[in-house]
Amino acid sequence: MRIILLGAPGAGKGSVGRPLSSQLEIPVISTGDIFRSNISGRTKLGLTAKGYMDRGELVPDGLTVSIVEDRIAQSDCAKGFILDGFPRNTFQASELDRILEKANLKIDLVLNVHLSDERIIQRLSSRMVCSSCGESYNRMSKDTSMPGICDLCGGRVSVREDDAPETVRKRLETYYLQTMPLIDFYRERGILSTIDNDCTIEEGSKRALEAVRNALPDHMSGHGRL
Ligand SMILES: [Zn+2]
Repeated sequence: MRIILLGAPGAGKGSVGRPLSSQLEIPVISTGDIFRSNISGRTKLGLTAKGYMDRGELVPDGLTVSIVEDRIAQSDCAKGFILDGFPRNTFQASELDRILEKANLKIDLVLNVHLSDERIIQRLSSRMVCSSCGESYNRMSKDTSMPGICDLCGGRVSVREDDAPETVRKRLETYYLQTMPLIDFYRERGILSTIDNDCTIEEGSKRALEAVRNALPDHMSGHGRL
């Protein structure tokens, strides 16, 4: 099963993707994670990518496409994969098609994880992180014992600049601009499924699994693990 996860930053793609990955026994591939680990490992790819980022430029589509091509050719992707953060635009989506067609494969499902802007802003601005040890907290579910002070190290705990409401609104605008064409691209192909993620993590993962079941060909959904 080859799945693409779409969804705004903060809509909960990660919490939907992780349980799907363990249930379907296929890896989640996050291009952001691949870049970050290459940058911290100082690989050639990492240095090239960092060069663009340091100049305030976007990593070119061609580079992103080639890391995805390498990654999905690895043996743990033989049964499928879940793409998170890729494709980001219709050019990348066509390139993905081209790569898969070479191997006689295709995307089975595009799972669009939806959460309203107001709920995203609420969720993200309740996340906090310790500036000294990096421990994360959440005003709603896991608050610090003393306001603004890390339970573990006594460091200062605050909302990340990226998660401040006005920054989140800008990130959302950028996301919608890039992604709306992608949603149409996959809807026209009949493989788009939108799930409402304004619910618990358990419920969200149940809805995602239901969408996966519906996307399976009839002869596969009647029996087996699902
Ligand atoms: Zn700390």
